[in-house]
Amino acid sequence: MLHEVSGLHDVFRLQNASGFVSLVGAGPGDADLLTLGACKALQSAQALLYDALVSDDILAMAPQKCVKICVGKRGDRLSVPQDKTNALMVRLARRGLHVVRLKGGDPSVFGRVEEERIHLDQHGIAHRTLAGVTAASAAAAQFDFPLTHRGEARSVTFLTARGQDGAINFRDGVVADPMASLVFYMASHAAAHIQAALFTAGRDACTPIIVVENAGRSTARAMSGTLGTLETLIERAALEGPVLIGVGPAFGYARLAAVTRTLSRKA
Ligand code: SAH
Repeated sequence: MLHEVSGLHDVFRLQNASGFVSLVGAGPGDADLLTLGACKALQSAQALLYDALVSDDILAMAPQKCVKICVGKRGDRLSVPQDKTNALMVRLARRGLHVVRLKGGDPSVFGRVEEERIHLDQHGIAHRTLAGVTAASAAAAQFDFPLTHRGEARSVTFLTARGQDGAINFRDGVVADPMASLVFYMASHAAAHIQAALFTAGRDACTPIIVVENAGRSTARAMSGTLGTLETLIERAALEGPVLIGVGPAFGYARLAAVTRTLSRKA
């Protein structure tokens, strides 16, 4: 019985008889940002379905005999469709395996985790979700900026510029508040749209912005500017990895040399 056990290991062991899925946040890539719970889940995985943004050293934490399948998705590139991933989870769990569905960052932030949980529920598969560090939190820690700041940044909103049907309009609501921190995910191709939409919403051209690529990893890069320079900054950045865009006064506190400092301390 679930309520009689304390450790995750025990839960997995007991559930293995009928198969069990752990929906696990892997953080933004660096193994240092895995939670202890995620490490334990990985170590007891019998089948691993992982996103493209999950790094090799994290994958190496799963047992050698564990089946490892990439179901990842990077931007518009081809990948395993969501319904195939859902079906795969069910098939593997029905073999009595502990299936770890390892997802980049936090599963609840642009992670389609609810679609997966609904599918598992519909098929009677037991599951559990483990939180992970979302890219915005990793970027904030790595480059020393706050997401909220007393008197200057009273809210933080995670949003994307793309919906299922194309560009999203965010004319008003929280985005218009000069004290709102906005963090855009999956948005590096929409810089011009974001800039124009935020101007329409009344945000000032001098509002600080930050663009962070590969947050939480040793390859991280951050560039700062103002809302008025967002499009140019993105154009010039030659971005290749995953990218976040932060807009709001809080991002003006970023210390761009922070990564170099952290790395040399680690070395
Ligand atoms: N669940 C994830 C987000 C998945 S959506 C999380 O909580 O972080 C994928 C988007 O997340 C990418 O397009 C990018 O905008 C952002 N992202 C993921 N990892 C990132 C990283 N290491 N650095 C910057 N942005 C990242």
